[in-house]
Amino acid sequence: MEDCAGTFQPDSSKCSGCPTRSTCPRSQSRNAVASTQSKEEVVYDVVIIGAGCIGGAVARELSKYSLKILLLESADDVSQGATKGNSGIVHAGYDDKPGSLHAKFCWPGNQMFPQLDKELRFGYQLNGSLVLATNKEELKILDELKERGRKNGVKRLRIVEKDELFKMEPALNPDAIAALHSPDAGNVIPYEYAIALCENAVDNGVELRIRREVTDINKKDELFEVDVRHWEPNSYANARENMGKSADGSEPVGGGGSLLFKAGVAVSSLTVIAKGIIMALDENINDDIRLQSAVATVFVGIVTAYLLLKPSSGSKKRKPTVLKDLVDKCSGPVGSGENGKVEVTDMFTGGSGSWNAVRGVTVGRESVKSRYVINCAGSSSDKIAKMIGDDSFYIKPRLGDYLLLNRNQGHLTSHTIFPCPDPVLGKGVLVQTTLWGNLILGPTARDMHNESARDMSQATVQEYILSKCKKLIPYFDPKETIHAFCGARSKSSRGDWIIEPSSKDGNFIHVAGIDSPGLAGSPAIALDVVRMLKETGCDMPRNKVSKLMTNYCSVYQINHMIHLSHTVSFAVIQSQQSTHHHS
Ligand SMILES: Cc1cc2nc3c(=O)[nH]c(=O)nc-3n(C[C@H](O)[C@H](O)[C@H](O)COP(=O)(O)OP(=O)(O)OC[C@H]3O[C@@H](n4cnc5c(N)ncnc54)[C@H](O)[C@@H]3O)c2cc1C
Repeated sequence: MEDCAGTFQPDSSKCSGCPTRSTCPRSQSRNAVASTQSKEEVVYDVVIIGAGCIGGAVARELSKYSLKILLLESADDVSQGATKGNSGIVHAGYDDKPGSLHAKFCWPGNQMFPQLDKELRFGYQLNGSLVLATNKEELKILDELKERGRKNGVKRLRIVEKDELFKMEPALNPDAIAALHSPDAGNVIPYEYAIALCENAVDNGVELRIRREVTDINKKDELFEVDVRHWEPNSYANARENMGKSADGSEPVGGGGSLLFKAGVAVSSLTVIAKGIIMALDENINDDIRLQSAVATVFVGIVTAYLLLKPSSGSKKRKPTVLKDLVDKCSGPVGSGENGKVEVTDMFTGGSGSWNAVRGVTVGRESVKSRYVINCAGSSSDKIAKMIGDDSFYIKPRLGDYLLLNRNQGHLTSHTIFPCPDPVLGKGVLVQTTLWGNLILGPTARDMHNESARDMSQATVQEYILSKCKKLIPYFDPKETIHAFCGARSKSSRGDWIIEPSSKDGNFIHVAGIDSPGLAGSPAIALDVVRMLKETGCDMPRNKVSKLMTNYCSVYQINHMIHLSHTVSFAVIQSQQSTHHHS
């Protein structure tokens, strides 16, 4: 790759003279050690567990250094956890408790987004946010928030009075009397952000393995040994079986046996034919016997040729499958839960409500050696910590439900509109127009350890969201709801983010329990992980050839659509087509 002109050509014969062009596309770059060594031989410098926005941001930042990095993701794609099921707000950091890690990373992270978007082109909307006050008590809360923001280093916060407020947002609830305005708050489509991070990390040499669940971690001779379960969807295993291959890629017994059989036939037949020819040509033998030998030799020759040339059962041509049959056989409606409707338990998978993203058949086990491990496993980060005997925290999932409205409702607001925050439930249920132009309503805050919150019916959840949002923007039409989804916040038992080397092993770094505003803080958190790694003495020369810029072509949004989870792409396609699904 050193000689590569740097432009990937889909047709490898047209690629410039790099020695590894057969392993192009560009994701196989110079540091992707697995392309030059067998997987078992590789000792990675860093294994990152979890490819949400945190794992993705860490992977991208570390790809600026010459390190062998492996990113492991248990789901069927990157960004299937909390990163997919959230509001996508790049918060400005005015409501985080001063002195907390939330406050430390949110504002610096926020400030990095405009430049990040220039580099990665995931799409960033700097729309600003407004926290509404509808009475005198709430006015006081606005002042408190502004003061908190000042302590957290947040710039340009100001209180806007009613007249100006309604000029900014004419469709607000007429009861609003003032608002806290932060022009630095923005929003992204969160999965696009995570995909862009991971793609750029992979461009710069990070190896990504999806459908790899970390099941155990041990330490031997100063190296971590990370045990990984590799799974594939049932449909994949079935397809391989149809092709005469087992799900783990090995040849079926029949295939190998057939080769041996052919070799045996060839050897014995050649012996018989040779003897037959010698007898047929031997003038000392009776003419009748010589004729019989010639006929027998020709016969054996024909049978041998047939047996050797006949296609084996494994390579028999199969009938092509009719497209309609494939469609009929494909899984149920996207976004449906295990029992045909989305239940709260379905959301434990990280927000998609689709078990397809996390379930299939085990097709292999891998053991990965690494000098450092970074735990970015979101809701499972406590389970990963326990694998090295660290039980210093646990995760308490808090579910957030959303309704997504059609794009014909998107004109109702340009800013992200919040109510005054609740001291227990956080920032509250908000209204926002997404980058794609849909109106998004939510999220709720349902603690999964609280039975009544956990078992709330879908109708109650929807009613709750709609009633809260009507207090902010009364004029949206709930009939324009095209999709409902949710995500699970990873709230840690410590009440703050856990970004530190584990007390059990300094080379094992937690980036755990990253609830909101983790998306906003993610680029700043990643920089801190680099700092921590350097402090442990990790040898990190700069990767002089890493590319900050993405390689996306101008149709990058379409490119992203290909990667979207079913749930999300369903919503996007629906809204793009402006179809109406009345709820
Ligand atoms: C409802 C809601 C609203 C939010 N709103 C905002 C917002 O507006 N702005 C904001 O800044 N933040 C927001 N957040 C927070 C933000 O979404 C999170 O901080 C962020 O997504 C956390 O990213 P993560 O990578 O740590 O976790 P995740 O995205 O959950 O990623 C963890 C990954 O680890 C993988 N994993 C788990 N176990 C294993 C294993 N054993 N082996 C391999 N891989 C494993 C998972 O599959 C997952 O992909 C919100 C969160 C929620 C839920």
